[in-house]
Amino acid sequence: MSDNILLNLGHEPHFDKIRTDDIAPAMRSAMDEARRQIAQIKAQNTTTWENTVERLTDITEKIGRIWGVVAHLNSVADTPELRAAYNELMPEVTVFFTEIGQDIELYERFKAIKASPEFARLSAAQQTKLAHDLRDFVLSGAELPPEQQAELAALQTESAQLSAQFSQNVLDATDAFALYFDDESSLHGLPEDALAMFQAAAQAEGKSGYKIGLQMPHYLAVMQYADNRELRQQVYRAYVTRASELGKPEWDNTPIIDRTLEIALAQAKLLGYHNYAELSLVTKMADSPAQVLDFLHDLARRAKPFAEKDLAQVRAFAAEKLGLPDIQSWDLAYAGEKLREAQYAFSETEVKKYFPVGKVLSGLFAQIDQLYGVRFTEKKVPVWHEDVRYFELEKDGETIGAVYMDLYAREGKRSGAWMNDYRGRRRFLSGDKAGQVQTPTAYLVCNFTPPVAGKEARLTHDEIITLFHEMGHGLHHLLTRVDELGVSGINGVEWDAVELPSQFMENFVWEFDVLRGMSAHEDTGEALPESLFAKMLAAKNFQRGMFLVRQMEFALFDMSIYSESDESSLHRWAETLQRVRKEVAVVQPPEYNRFANSFGHIFAGGYSAGYYSYAWAEVLSADAYAAFEESGDVKATGVKFWNEILAVGGSRSAAESFKAFRGRAPSIDALLRHSGFTVA
Ligand code: ZN
Repeated sequence: MSDNILLNLGHEPHFDKIRTDDIAPAMRSAMDEARRQIAQIKAQNTTTWENTVERLTDITEKIGRIWGVVAHLNSVADTPELRAAYNELMPEVTVFFTEIGQDIELYERFKAIKASPEFARLSAAQQTKLAHDLRDFVLSGAELPPEQQAELAALQTESAQLSAQFSQNVLDATDAFALYFDDESSLHGLPEDALAMFQAAAQAEGKSGYKIGLQMPHYLAVMQYADNRELRQQVYRAYVTRASELGKPEWDNTPIIDRTLEIALAQAKLLGYHNYAELSLVTKMADSPAQVLDFLHDLARRAKPFAEKDLAQVRAFAAEKLGLPDIQSWDLAYAGEKLREAQYAFSETEVKKYFPVGKVLSGLFAQIDQLYGVRFTEKKVPVWHEDVRYFELEKDGETIGAVYMDLYAREGKRSGAWMNDYRGRRRFLSGDKAGQVQTPTAYLVCNFTPPVAGKEARLTHDEIITLFHEMGHGLHHLLTRVDELGVSGINGVEWDAVELPSQFMENFVWEFDVLRGMSAHEDTGEALPESLFAKMLAAKNFQRGMFLVRQMEFALFDMSIYSESDESSLHRWAETLQRVRKEVAVVQPPEYNRFANSFGHIFAGGYSAGYYSYAWAEVLSADAYAAFEESGDVKATGVKFWNEILAVGGSRSAAESFKAFRGRAPSIDALLRHSGFTVA
């Protein structure tokens, strides 16, 4: 057991040596040990911050760290063995944390600290953490009678299992799809790098020719560029029916969605709420589901006329220039790209030629250095896949954090892009590390088009935006100065404010100097010319209306199904989606579209009754960025942004942090202006 890597993860874990067989023994022995230590806490005659809260932090951090590594590997390097181990352990881990949350003796001790003279001597961060903890005890059912506690615990375990199953079904349905082509005759219109990617995918299976899968870079390339309409339709259909009853029955997420909604409502009712949306908002910045729905309806109403204009334009263009008088869902991205090329005289493929990944990373690091005076240095450490890179962050000669970057799509890796933490910042109060600071480490995961044939990968402008976005989350986690683990970095930040630092970073990808600095044309080595940038900028809000109404569709669907208070209506979520689409969408997808069945954000990703967060936080991020537009002093504004937003993490409310940075409450004006929705 002592050679079990998971029990000695250390500063830079040996990801290359973790064995699936290590998982169960490591987790079980760690949880046993944790239970012994919790019993010791409860046997004490005194209750202080240090002997109770701090010790419990030590205990839960250790379990969370090991399980975090397992969950991370499960999402980026899935294998049948790993998945089996993950699924086997997950209920036990859920039970472990539920036990703590429902432990009335611990709860009483936390309450005693709140009521004691010690409370006044705690730091502001410690006081906030204690307030969060007391709230979370209640939300875990600490105040419920034992019978209902057991019921709630069972629901939580089942919910965690369903969420894992949901993701696994989507991943399996995604990876199972394959179309093979012997030659290029059916692949007209696809750019060279896409063809090379399909070729590499075939080669990886020992085949010649081309393989098209459903991983995001494959799907997007076909949707955007394939002249072959049947191919687009075929891939579209496969993509939007993933994990539905139209595919393999064992991957069908329909019953999982039904049950997930039942569980969510049952949990909410046990805790005294009318519906899950109300429960979800207790820990968020928004006050009530009604407030969120109003916000979404308002934004949808403002965006819709622009979306209709967008659609009319692409429809007319498709009919006139592309011979597509009856434009369908699988034509939209294709016709949109052709229209962009015609209207703004450039293509995304052309732009992509300018952005080799190495230069983009240097440009990103340079921008961060300019804003905050921190530097990134690459370091060789053990990783879970050869593509993964590791960078340390340094400020004034001191290492303040580190980040793993796993940038490319591959099989066995969950789609999408996200930041997660390996560990958070904290200052130890006691023990042999007393006074020392633990620096934070983040995982940054994307699904970009992988490099092929030994050529350096190149990123599209959208991919660069994604990279900056995820790094924004990373900086929120890494640039914290809070000493209290529970509220340092992204910990304890209201979920609907979490996208503020990430969406904020996206703005820099629209600045010429930033883009130019990270560009070098693949043939000529030339930097991005201003003329091309001017075209990109002119096209910035191209189809922005359509994009926003789609976001509103997702967010309203999410908020509506989780706002349902009546059990008998829960399974009508497909009808709810139809109703929302009728209200806000400008394009009605085909009947077979089963979008919800792969909507992992709200059924497996923690965004349940929270998808609105993207738009909500964009109000904040656009307004925050406007402070940089208004001030000529980037450095000073950067320092203020770091101090008031990034550094404080969850140690105070997002509303307070925003006000401290901006001097006033957030306003939607900047978002509307950036979207081109205001009349000059
Ligand atoms: Zn994000």
